Amino acid sequence: MAQKRDYYEVLGVDRTATKEELKKAFRRLARQYHPDVNKDPDASERFKEINEAYEVLSDDKKRALYDRYGHDGVQNGGFGGFSGFEGAGFGSMADIFEEFFGSAFGSRRRRRGPRRGADLRYNLTITFEEAAFGTEKEIEVRRPAVCPTCNGSGAEPGTTPVTCATCRGTGEVRRVQQSILGSFVNVTTCPTCQGTGETIPNLCRTCNGRKQVYENKTLKVRIPPGVDNETQIRLTGEGAPGVNGGPSGHLYVIIHVKEHPYFERRGDDIWLDLQINVAQAALGDEVTVPTLDGEARLVIPPGTESGQVFHLRGKGVPRLDRSGRGADIGRGDQHVLIHVSIPKNLTDEQRQLFQELARTLGKEVIPQREKGILSQLRDALGDVFGL
Ligand SMILES: [Zn+2]
Ligand SMILES: [Zn+2]
Repeated sequence: MAQKRDYYEVLGVDRTATKEELKKAFRRLARQYHPDVNKDPDASERFKEINEAYEVLSDDKKRALYDRYGHDGVQNGGFGGFSGFEGAGFGSMADIFEEFFGSAFGSRRRRRGPRRGADLRYNLTITFEEAAFGTEKEIEVRRPAVCPTCNGSGAEPGTTPVTCATCRGTGEVRRVQQSILGSFVNVTTCPTCQGTGETIPNLCRTCNGRKQVYENKTLKVRIPPGVDNETQIRLTGEGAPGVNGGPSGHLYVIIHVKEHPYFERRGDDIWLDLQINVAQAALGDEVTVPTLDGEARLVIPPGTESGQVFHLRGKGVPRLDRSGRGADIGRGDQHVLIHVSIPKNLTDEQRQLFQELARTLGKEVIPQREKGILSQLRDALGDVFGL
């Protein structure tokens, strides 16, 4: 994307322009560049730019965001450079920053006191095994940080902010209004300084007076054994920086666990579906099953039915130690759910063997038609197998 021009520059107004001045500038430029009247090929681009600038600067909330964060702060769905942070009902950058900075916009809350920085979320996807046994991951987050050039003052090094001339440093503008009930004082946030009580004559050239910049930061996340979907890991103080000396917010890493090809997790237990054939079910067998710790032997006793469950004690997921002390508090179990598969395409030899088998099982199951034995077996297993 091409470098966007500063909105104030687009409208040709001062950073301290009032709403009235903005409106005037917008009207004048809009008339000049409206594609209906201006046939210059660049006019429509220019017209769009003017509209966009006015759309942002005429809205107090958006203007405050823009003043603080520039184009990053007001781009709708502008999540491009903000990888990892998504979802959670954040619709646009404006929403996010509202989330970060609370109800500071449009309220008369004093803005000069220290405020804690916002909490950030990072979605991290890990494998089933990593969730079970824990791991350490490096993540790269793009987050707001205190501007290193001005140290968060917003002023070019060597210069200082000055007391706002509009509100004389109070951050508020009082206006007496007349109504049929008499006069009352209407107090609003000072539009010049956005309530800070100060203006900055020489803006820091790194952050353009926004006091914060974006930085990419690589962080290590220790993931303890036993985490599951939606487990949150807090990285204390790794969120957005505080304002006016307030502490930083936290970074919450939200865990997403990939599905496993065989295992299904329910709490600390693991479930495995295991298919055995009719012969194994009738005669019994010893089979190999996958577990989190590698392969294990499982004895199938003779006469095993579909729906039966065998248990491998202690082969489940380690229990999450919420104390954070890294204590070993045991593991869940692995459960193996048996499905007896009924052969569908019998060879001649198999059909013969089944017919012999059927004869020995008593006349009530003797097949009347060729495919009869299958339905007989289905009837016998249907209630557990769901056929
Ligand atoms: Zn700066
Ligand atoms: Zn002011």
